[in-house]
Amino acid sequence: GYRKGGYHAARIGDRFAAGRYVAQRKLGWGNFSTVWLAYDTLCSRYVAIKIQKSAKEYAESALHEIDLLSSIAQGDDSKSKCVIQLLDHFKHSGPNGQHYCLATEFLGDSLLKLIRYNRKKGIGLHRVRQISKSVLSGLDYLHRELGIIHTDLKPENVLLVSTIDPTKDPTRTGLPPILERPEGNPDHFKRVNFGDKWLKIRAKRAVAKISQRRVSLGGVMEMDNRSLEGVDLQCKIVDFGNAVRGNEELMEEIQTREYRAPEVVIGSGYSFSADMWSFACLVFELATGDTLFAPMASDDFTEDEDHLAQMMELLGKMPKKIAVAGSRSKDYFDRHGDLKRIRRLKFRPMDSLLVDKYHFTETDAHGLSNFLCPLLDFEPEKRPTASQCLVHQWITGS
Ligand code: ADP
Ligand code: MG
Repeated sequence: GYRKGGYHAARIGDRFAAGRYVAQRKLGWGNFSTVWLAYDTLCSRYVAIKIQKSAKEYAESALHEIDLLSSIAQGDDSKSKCVIQLLDHFKHSGPNGQHYCLATEFLGDSLLKLIRYNRKKGIGLHRVRQISKSVLSGLDYLHRELGIIHTDLKPENVLLVSTIDPTKDPTRTGLPPILERPEGNPDHFKRVNFGDKWLKIRAKRAVAKISQRRVSLGGVMEMDNRSLEGVDLQCKIVDFGNAVRGNEELMEEIQTREYRAPEVVIGSGYSFSADMWSFACLVFELATGDTLFAPMASDDFTEDEDHLAQMMELLGKMPKKIAVAGSRSKDYFDRHGDLKRIRRLKFRPMDSLLVDKYHFTETDAHGLSNFLCPLLDFEPEKRPTASQCLVHQWITGS
């Protein structure tokens, strides 16, 4: 949290980069950072500022992210690559230390929010297709043109492109940007760091005035399926804190659990195709509202083992030569390539899962599983690349 080496507690009206950016409102946070909407007084536009935690390892990761985002921006003259644009970076000193800050274009809500708005029902296949297209062109750019593996593709790291002109009024209140720290008891503004909750605190006059600004999160205001009717959804991939160049030495443990590829679980090395696995998990979740895999440990087996079991129940048995090839294979598999501690698997292929559990029509279920199952091949080399997916019939609609 907000302690030495940790997050910087920004407040509305705070100035960054020698006064150039003025904090407007907190947009979100992750393990490494808090992200604020800020007004860029030099260019008269809104930007997002990611304020990294200050401890050394976070600073290093910020420098790494700056390096990758600079390459990403260099190759993206047309600014159309479906990957976030870095605009500026600088250091900011606060009571918890020195924080690296990245100013990027201001985007809308994350796919996680979109999924939550439409809990338990998915967002409709035509919208899943639109979003898939964006994410795939982002991945294609990263993989093929830049040689970058994202390694943490998941709904919260894909943001909708704001439907509002971000240089105009992202708060949709018609109010001008905040340029001064508002008057009032500074204690009240501390609460801003707790995100949405701060609205509920006692409304001092100054606070009430700011709360009018929390109208929209800068994206689509209402994100249930009805309000999204006719909205052309586009999105961009963000969060390159964990991304790597394909030719660098790779960390062993990557990806967020639910989106983690089997080769990462068993420790047999990974490449660009690990992102394609996560992509398939993401698409399934958009389409159904449920995570594709939800592994859990029990007294008898670990989370990894449950994860591998769930994969095999959906996709069939992992080929033995793959199952035994990882640095951790011996922990999970016997010499026949069967799981040691989970003996009975309940096989259910994706198309029948989609029909039985999610009430897809046969046609929709076949279409989606024909697109996703090749991406979930246990053999990483066999998974289609992003550019191959872009011409798949499910994406092109032909
Ligand atoms: P972390 O590395 O700490 O996970 P992220 O880059 O993923 O940081 O950002 C954390 C969250 O902040 C995102 O999930 C999103 O909600 C929000 N966010 C990040 N960048 C932007 C942006 N450019 N525009 C709007 N919101 C953003
Ligand atoms: Mg993140």
